[in-house]
Amino acid sequence: MNTLNTDIPRSVLLYCRGGFEKECAAEILERTGELGVSGYVKAKPDSGFVAFIPHATEAVSLHDRGLRLKDLIFARQLVFALGPFTELPVADRTQPLLQAARHLGDRFSEAFLETADTNGAKSLAVFLRKFAAPFDRAFKDSGLLGSPSDPRLHLFFLSSIAAYVGISIPGNSCPWLMGIPRLKFPRGAPSRSTLKLEEAFLTFLDDPKESLSPGMTAVDLGAAPGGWTFQLVKHHIKVTAVDNGKLEPALLDTGLVEHLRMDAFRYRPPKPVDWLVCDVVEQPARIAALIGEWTALGLCRRAIFNLKLPMNKRYEEVKRCREIIEARLGRTLNDYSLAFKQLYHDRAEITGYISRHIR
Ligand code: SAM
Repeated sequence: MNTLNTDIPRSVLLYCRGGFEKECAAEILERTGELGVSGYVKAKPDSGFVAFIPHATEAVSLHDRGLRLKDLIFARQLVFALGPFTELPVADRTQPLLQAARHLGDRFSEAFLETADTNGAKSLAVFLRKFAAPFDRAFKDSGLLGSPSDPRLHLFFLSSIAAYVGISIPGNSCPWLMGIPRLKFPRGAPSRSTLKLEEAFLTFLDDPKESLSPGMTAVDLGAAPGGWTFQLVKHHIKVTAVDNGKLEPALLDTGLVEHLRMDAFRYRPPKPVDWLVCDVVEQPARIAALIGEWTALGLCRRAIFNLKLPMNKRYEEVKRCREIIEARLGRTLNDYSLAFKQLYHDRAEITGYISRHIR
């Protein structure tokens, strides 16, 4: 990292949902502030990413200081980058990009060619498809390809002649290209929202096999038409589905689902369950209070829940919801892990996960 031209800014790139740059920027400023690192952000509305530029330190040192992707709600990916490199030579973009990569390390586990996840950037897909094969060949020939424990190389294209070149760190990054899981809509699923819970399982669970095992019990609040229940049933979990709306009949035929037509805020299980999932469309603070209560009373061991964000002051609202849950857990808070993420399948909403540690 020492031969780097010092006029090149060193940025922390955060990929996010288009339209959420302001929240992503507020969050990275707050986190880096807590880590004692000052800097500024570039966050163009609807660009699908935010760049944080530290004033006095190398971006990658933020990893050593404890900046973690899992602690960021609005960021899908965390990349320590050089650039942007503009006016890449059309005749050979590969060599300058690989040269920049050499400033970041001498071995990479793989190379991701990426753009922001926005409609504007979609037009770059054709270019990237053509560029991928020659780049891959050059990357393999360069001797830069290492092992899975090495950092991943990211070429984040802003246009066909401008890109950031960065790395993400194993264990502190998202394994998916552009931070997006490629999930297939499962045959027979009653709603697209099923993918939200599937992505939440992939995002939050370190031990999916143990966390989702046959014979477990679950409550699905706001279950209709049944996309989330479908995911639980896929793991042979017994579900009490609470919703006044109609549930997909095939779910009831599995023998694993009981449908209760009642108010999600009034229902309490006769005995504690392994899982609570909640996708009720309501004010986020009200959902947070409900989750806090179920958790504090020990009615569920784990919960995944969606918070539908308001139009304004969205980041403030997220913080308020976290505080509501934390306040409800009070002195027992350390017995729990609490995390939030705006998933790819989330729209103007975020997903929360809380679990009680096993003692
Ligand atoms: N997760 C579901 C799926 O995957 O198919 C979609 C849930 S949908 C976004 C929200 C559901 O919450 C609606 O079916 C609605 O009837 C239900 N709902 C809203 N308020 C409710 C309440 N107070 N009690 C029970 N259900 C409620």
